[in-house]
Amino acid sequence: MKVVLLVLLFVSGVFSKGFNDEGSTYNPFTFVKAIKTANNAYTLEFKNDEESYFTNFYITAKGVIAFDPLSDIAAYEYIKQIKKYAPNKPLLAIVYSHLHTDHIAGARVLREEFGKNIPIIAHERVEKYLDYYNLSYIDKPNILIPYSGKTMKFGNTTIEFKYLGSAHTDSIIVPIIKEIKQAYICDFANNDVVGWTNLPGINLDELIKMKKEVLKLDVDVITFCHGKPGTKEAVKRQVKYYDTLFKEVSFSISKGMNLEEAQNSIELEEFKYFKNYDDWFKGNVEAVYLWLKKTQ
Ligand SMILES: [Zn+2]
Repeated sequence: MKVVLLVLLFVSGVFSKGFNDEGSTYNPFTFVKAIKTANNAYTLEFKNDEESYFTNFYITAKGVIAFDPLSDIAAYEYIKQIKKYAPNKPLLAIVYSHLHTDHIAGARVLREEFGKNIPIIAHERVEKYLDYYNLSYIDKPNILIPYSGKTMKFGNTTIEFKYLGSAHTDSIIVPIIKEIKQAYICDFANNDVVGWTNLPGINLDELIKMKKEVLKLDVDVITFCHGKPGTKEAVKRQVKYYDTLFKEVSFSISKGMNLEEAQNSIELEEFKYFKNYDDWFKGNVEAVYLWLKKTQ
């Protein structure tokens, strides 16, 4: 969800481990397992020191569509998994969910293996972002999705790329694989995980609006980049989590509590099982507290 780890890794000497450059080293993942989510659809679970990451690939009659390649280290494992479940199939395209580099590094490794000219699909702002920062370790997209969205055919497979809003970078696309009614949602909603730290820079109204947009999609399966694959029920729990948190924080503010008092008084028993609750819940309270102070 962020890129600041880079600095920490410089300090901690991870760069001396012998990987080729920052794109491969700042997010050193361990592969956990592959999860079948539908016919010909697989989610790959990885973890790093801080959290779990998930990505997916889909096997069409013509070849494979690979979503977020995560990092060079993850991509080496990604290749093995594609070859295991789709032996001898070509890679047709790579899809970036949004511009955050902790999800989209590693495409160069997939292309090294499957073909240098494999197209990369992303929202049009991802290209602008990468042009601006010119990150040597991230391959740039060459099929751009406009704000109005786009539908593409890969053999008999139709994938719709939708834009649902600008929270968590104005660059997120939601790909929907029509024949299995499966959507991939990254970072703006997840499966039973609290929000990342104090939700820096996030427009919370927009964030919740986007989650509610997901509930309108005609899908049976949702894969998330954080949290196990699930259904719209997971997104309903997310909406309920934020609704409950907003109510609790509003109440604290109405009682005249300062931020620290609110953080120390609010616990959401119903959601304590969410991943990273112990680490990030107080940060989530802070985000909502400051948001309400700013917007009300
Ligand atoms: Zn992100």
